Amino acid sequence: MKKVNIAIDGFSACGKSTTAKAMARELGYLYVDSGAMYRAVTLYFLDHNITLTNPREVQKALDNIKITFHVNPKTGETETFLNVLRVEEEIRTMRVTEHVSQVSALSPVRKAMVSQQQKFGKKKGVVMDGRDIGTVVFPDAALKIFMIADMNIRVERRQKELFEKNQLVDFEEVKANLARRDAIDSTREDSPLKQADDALIIDTTYLTLDEQIEEGLNLATSRILEQN
Ligand code: C5P
Repeated sequence: MKKVNIAIDGFSACGKSTTAKAMARELGYLYVDSGAMYRAVTLYFLDHNITLTNPREVQKALDNIKITFHVNPKTGETETFLNVLRVEEEIRTMRVTEHVSQVSALSPVRKAMVSQQQKFGKKKGVVMDGRDIGTVVFPDAALKIFMIADMNIRVERRQKELFEKNQLVDFEEVKANLARRDAIDSTREDSPLKQADDALIIDTTYLTLDEQIEEGLNLATSRILEQN
């Protein structure tokens, strides 16, 4: 069966990565979390006090960054590495989350990440989630999904996710962060978050996790069959 690339975009905390991860597992595809890459860059920039308004400093930092994904043999989960360091938990902290959209809006950062993301997709068989996957990274993806959900539901889900990682964050703080990131991500000049013309919408507001995964898989299966 010929493999295809699947792009999943949408606002923060709509269920993109959970859906993408499960779809990839079910289809035997590679899952790539493009947000993790922007988060890893942000962590490096914060740790090295990179001035975002200094293009030379930004470029030099980017030249020193290598982001890789490795499957943890114990859990079977894909983990993010920044150079030799495993940063899977650190990139999900509020410290990184607070700054990631500013860093992601920089064109040199996007250029470096998009080029690496396109390499992952060369051989097809990739499910990638993010903000510009269907519009910029894989404009020819066989299936493009755009996920949406009601804001309060998104906040509740994200707050629960943080709580499970021992981070107790106030509802209003999570809400403000999501709203701020949505605004920056969708208004930036370089590859703003927007629904691709040929993307199909999944509204996860009233869906359980299993239902949203099933909906994604149904779309994927019929698209894969069409392509073969
Ligand atoms: O998906 P996640 O919430 O982890 O992404 C973190 C941030 O990375 C987003 O808010 C956005 O600023 C940036 N991002 C992006 N383009 C992508 C994926 C993520 O700009 N393809």
